[in-house]
Amino acid sequence: MPSLEKLDPKALDPERTVVVATGNAHKLEEIQAILGPVLPSMRFVALGQLGDFPEPDENGDTFLANAIIKAEAAVAETGFAAIADDSGLAVDALDGAPGVHSARYCGHHGDDAANNEKLLANLANVSDAERTARFVSVVVLIGRSGLVLSGTGTCEGAVGREGRGEHGFGYDPLFLPEDTPGRTMAELLPDEKNAISHRFHALENLIPQLEGWTTA
Ligand code: IMP
Repeated sequence: MPSLEKLDPKALDPERTVVVATGNAHKLEEIQAILGPVLPSMRFVALGQLGDFPEPDENGDTFLANAIIKAEAAVAETGFAAIADDSGLAVDALDGAPGVHSARYCGHHGDDAANNEKLLANLANVSDAERTARFVSVVVLIGRSGLVLSGTGTCEGAVGREGRGEHGFGYDPLFLPEDTPGRTMAELLPDEKNAISHRFHALENLIPQLEGWTTA
């Protein structure tokens, strides 16, 4: 992943800056590409470009609650408006699990291989027809004085029986989007994924609320 240049917060205009609460350069690019044309006077910067901030405890019960925790922390730390997303995989046969626990399904944080292994084990006796699932993303934009806007998006599909593909991250090798029959999310090029992803749909859902939006 490309590393992001450090920026001096004092050199940024609070009325024209939106902090993206992520250290992930790909998420910054994706958000910039989709929201840039809608908010042409805004500059999007990643939180990690402004300093080293501790990760807030994402202890909410919903994607919305966790996205708010991340965006609020970024506003409090920087004084700028901030945008954050929280996302995960919801599997119907598992009553929506792993859901908000997607990153730590296996018991510890961020081990994609172990998470995928546990998911396959828990679905071992589930038929192809009952393996339906969706990626969910909630995007939250919070202004400097606390106004909260949010958008929700999903990407429908099913969980396969073995991992395939080299792109993406997380559950992408196991997830078969409805929009790309026969191909896993990890077999899609980044632009193909971005055109159908839950984050894309969440940002699209946010856009109609942005008319006249200011960072105040
Ligand atoms: P976060 O919202 O970026 O913290 O994502 C939480 C977890 O959900 C990740 O660690 C992944 O396991 C899973 N996840 C979220 N979005 C995706 C995606 O686009 N592909 C695959 N897994 C995802």
